[in-house]
Amino acid sequence: MTSLWLDRSPVRTYPSLAPGLRFDHIVVGGGLTGVATAMLLARSGASVALLEARDLGAVATGNTTGKLSLLQGTHLSEIAARHSDSSLRAYLEANRAGQRWLLEFCADHDIDVQREAAFTYAAAPESRAVVERELAACRTAGLEADWVDEVELPFPTYGAVRAGDQAQFDPMTVLHGLAAQAQRHGAVISENTRVTGISGDTVHTDLGDLHADSVVLATGTPILDRGAFFARLEAQRSYALAFEVPGSIPHGMYLSADSPTRSLRSAPTSAGELLLVGGNGHPVGREPETGSKVDELIEWTRTYWPTAQLTHSWSAQDYSSIDALPYVGPLLPGSDRILVATGYAKWGMTNGVAAALALTGRLLGATPAWAPALEAWRPRELAGLVSALAANSKVGLALAGGWARAELHTTGDAPPEGTGYVHRDGVRPVATCTVDGDTSTVSAICPHLYGVVRWNDAEKSWDCPLHGSRFAADGSVLEGPATRPLASRVFEY
Ligand SMILES: Cc1cc2nc3c(=O)[nH]c(=O)nc-3n(C[C@H](O)[C@H](O)[C@H](O)COP(=O)(O)OP(=O)(O)OC[C@H]3O[C@@H](n4cnc5c(N)ncnc54)[C@H](O)[C@@H]3O)c2cc1C
Repeated sequence: MTSLWLDRSPVRTYPSLAPGLRFDHIVVGGGLTGVATAMLLARSGASVALLEARDLGAVATGNTTGKLSLLQGTHLSEIAARHSDSSLRAYLEANRAGQRWLLEFCADHDIDVQREAAFTYAAAPESRAVVERELAACRTAGLEADWVDEVELPFPTYGAVRAGDQAQFDPMTVLHGLAAQAQRHGAVISENTRVTGISGDTVHTDLGDLHADSVVLATGTPILDRGAFFARLEAQRSYALAFEVPGSIPHGMYLSADSPTRSLRSAPTSAGELLLVGGNGHPVGREPETGSKVDELIEWTRTYWPTAQLTHSWSAQDYSSIDALPYVGPLLPGSDRILVATGYAKWGMTNGVAAALALTGRLLGATPAWAPALEAWRPRELAGLVSALAANSKVGLALAGGWARAELHTTGDAPPEGTGYVHRDGVRPVATCTVDGDTSTVSAICPHLYGVVRWNDAEKSWDCPLHGSRFAADGSVLEGPATRPLASRVFEY
């Protein structure tokens, strides 16, 4: 599955760095957060290296739907339900700062952005109250938004909140524009460089050690377990499709307030405008048939656009914090040597840039006034303990379920093409799958915190239900907190 944005030759590739070098700052992760952070730090005159395990944009940023919006589905009312009005306003200010900064960057560098209104709509009468609450939260937060009874969609809706003058873009064009400016200011970008650990001022990578005074982990979910962010985050995967649709495509960026969510936007391409449809999210590794999530979305689209022709389908994941606000700041309280940015709840286009502004402000001695609302360690962490425990009881159930599922299968024939299953080899669960005619067996135990992985038939990957680590059929790491592959020989763990 390749996203619309990644379905082209890379604009640029970046050779891997030789080990041994020292920098003022090392930024880990070449998504929007990491590239924007590296660019801002390099622009201040610091020496900076950006290390990316795969290619720039390979994970969430290259697989997003690319809405740069302050109206974020029902997210403002979710924050309002848990936090003070001043925290809600600070969250909006942070996102406004991120949006404004990125729009100015795009304008200054001739990067195409489409200005569109954003809508949160009710697709069922019972969701109308949810949308009304969102409008109230917008007003408390300071976001100009109105109620509309009618929207330009070919199915019944029951009212919507509209925020005008938001934006959408091609996230890979923006990412490569930022990377080019980071390099112009002297940042060194190194792809295919996976960080495996940090000790003192040494950053260990699979290519050797580098050194830095400070490290920013912009890795989606933090890769180091110090701080136990994994226990305060839930990895949520969802799906996106692009269609050619004869006739007119609705303009505006739409998100339903209902579940399963439906996300819509248009996307200009050289071959004409496409309709993007997204939704059907679920926690990573806990869905037995991910392929059916894609089929359902296709069927839903064809109900309302019967002649729609599918051009691309893809999926991606992002991390939601237990109390709805992101975590941006030190990995451990009291030390700014390692900083993290995570928990954007699928709103990382604005939050990722806000995080970059907050972290560089912190490192350079000019923290924005709104930054405390996004702090990684804040007094409300205590208030969030109950939800943390609830989230972790789901993790416990997923852990037990994975080991029990492994009991159900005995080693047998090679699974049919595109499928995989977990079974036992002696006492250890192992994972066997067949992809492109090759049958491979690897350990089924996630090296992060020992969950038993589950087959993801949509992506042909092994996904861990505990904290969202994902692995290719051969066991190599795709994303998530794991830094090591699934073992090829089961007795290695
Ligand atoms: C389906 C979907 C649709 C979305 N749509 C929107 C939207 O319309 N608007 C919006 O605002 N947000 C949206 N989001 C959220 C947004 O895409 C993300 O929040 C954002 O891209 C996160 O950026 P990031 O840089 O933090 O992470 P990523 O883009 O995931 O970048 C992290 C990088 O770190 C690298 N990395 C990880 N571990 C290591 C390591 N050990 N060593 C080196 N590198 C490492 C990864 O390879 C990756 O490239 C969406 C998310 C999903 C899942």
